[in-house]
Amino acid sequence: MVNWLDYAKQANSGGRPIRFGHCGNSGRNAVAYNNARGYSAKCYSCGWTDYKAKKLYIAKREENSDHKPGVRVSPVPLGRLTPELFREVWKYTLKYGMTPDEAGITGVHRDRIVFECGDVQKGKLLPFLSGQGTGPKWVTYTDGIAMIGSGTSLVAVEDIVSMYKVRLALPGVSVICLLGTSFKLLYRNHLEGIEEICWMLDGDGSGARGVVKGMREMAPWVRHQRVIILPPGRDPKDLRIKEIQELFDD
Ligand SMILES: [Zn+2]
Repeated sequence: MVNWLDYAKQANSGGRPIRFGHCGNSGRNAVAYNNARGYSAKCYSCGWTDYKAKKLYIAKREENSDHKPGVRVSPVPLGRLTPELFREVWKYTLKYGMTPDEAGITGVHRDRIVFECGDVQKGKLLPFLSGQGTGPKWVTYTDGIAMIGSGTSLVAVEDIVSMYKVRLALPGVSVICLLGTSFKLLYRNHLEGIEEICWMLDGDGSGARGVVKGMREMAPWVRHQRVIILPPGRDPKDLRIKEIQELFDD
């Protein structure tokens, strides 16, 4: 059995094929190509064909679909998405009782839903587009402080969807997304007028584990701090508007 790949690899990429013998033919009745995406071959006698994608090509695609930290992306706006994709984005936000607008979604970039808040731009993997889903669930395209509102109370949550959910529930407060936030940046520029920080975090999450450190860091900058630890595995985005209001008012 002839290894057609060996022939294909001898061909110049994108150039002329290599001829070789196939199906017992000692002549050169088959050709093997080498092109940018992969190798292919066909036999003129029996009609056999074969194809093998290049690993290099797959790796390159993964690299391209990945984000470059610090580089802003231009998502396809919601209004320009295909109906199927538009439905998927809605399905995602409706899980949390929000519209895409309310959740801070500006569009879709490659296989990710893009969320924005000021300069901050984050991407959430959309299984509908990525199949099994490769790469991290969330990526940060551009970082900074994701904070909204102008209230004197600041609610600190872990993720950006929870930030927008709390914003819906408590329009009078400020809300900050802690993931990817540097405390140093925060208290230098964003704590003016803030009188209270209310940490509202998933009991099992990384935010809850870091809350003591956070409180210590914030202590010189704000008068009051309190902690609302949510049941394990639940972020504010998983709660009902009413539940968030009750927790905050208690
Ligand atoms: Zn053949």
